Amino acid sequence: MNYSSWQNILANSTTNIQDILNKFSLNVGDFYDQPLEIDNFPIKIPPGFLKKIISGDPNDPILKQILPSASEIIKLKNYSYDPLLENQSNPTHGILHKFKGRALVTMTGNCAIHCRYCFRKHFDYQANTPSKKHWSKIKEYLINHSDIFEIILSGGDPLINNDHYLGDFIQMISSIPNITTLRIHSRVPIVLPERITPSLLDIIANTKLMKVMVVHTNHPQELDQQINSKIRLLKNAGLTIFNQSVLLAGVNNKANILIDLSKLLFSYGIIPYYLNMLDQVTGSQKFYVKQKDALNIYQILLSSLPGYLVPKLVQEHPNLPYKKPLFTH
Ligand code: SF4
Repeated sequence: MNYSSWQNILANSTTNIQDILNKFSLNVGDFYDQPLEIDNFPIKIPPGFLKKIISGDPNDPILKQILPSASEIIKLKNYSYDPLLENQSNPTHGILHKFKGRALVTMTGNCAIHCRYCFRKHFDYQANTPSKKHWSKIKEYLINHSDIFEIILSGGDPLINNDHYLGDFIQMISSIPNITTLRIHSRVPIVLPERITPSLLDIIANTKLMKVMVVHTNHPQELDQQINSKIRLLKNAGLTIFNQSVLLAGVNNKANILIDLSKLLFSYGIIPYYLNMLDQVTGSQKFYVKQKDALNIYQILLSSLPGYLVPKLVQEHPNLPYKKPLFTH
């Protein structure tokens, strides 16, 4: 295997269920919800993240997030392909404009990992991934909506783009007078830390925009010293770094896990920001946590952690102009 660049590392991602079962000494019969190859959102996990799975445990919290299973093809009434109705907030190719003052750009449909609960797993990226020919329309939209001050690079995962493309795009948006803030939503620093290269750090450090990154971690087992070092470099490049998690049954729906996660994140210099309720995308039902149970867990977080380590427990609703906090007193 050639591990000389992050692209090569990514190209060596595991994409086959049987390879995973063999590697971790598991059998199909070990699972209540049987593993199943899913063609339109296949298994994908990069080598370094794969190594964090603990052998022989069908309930491993990382394995649970990445292993496709038979329940994913079951269609249920309260689940849909577009649970946040994002196709109604898509004014021009590549832009999602849902919230006042902020616009999200779907920089790519690709990710370093395929998370089974992802609410955008059915998103029409083909119709919405901007290439350079779409940039003038994006710029025009942002100039014409002068209340927009923050651009959120999302996807997919924006850090899957190459440095050249990313750097040029950031330069383009930084030339728009009303844009003051760049936000990068990415799971890459957690699942593919090798992507945090000196040239990416230069691009981030050199923009005049204010800079925020929101990483995505669900369980302390995902974190290690390599990530810690890369987060330090990102902070040195001028980023303020937050974390968002999704509350996932069988992965992190226990207060002690979330308490440990908040403490560990903070020791890396990351502020716990959001604990999102599941967006009910078709096939994600095995991750669902009832609101009553979420609130019980949250009460324990509140009484166990200083306020700055308690992420906001929120649910996004398609027609609300903000994420709704579930704990209000
Ligand atoms: S990294 Fe983010 S966008 Fe990509 S599959 Fe996972 S949750 Fe979805």
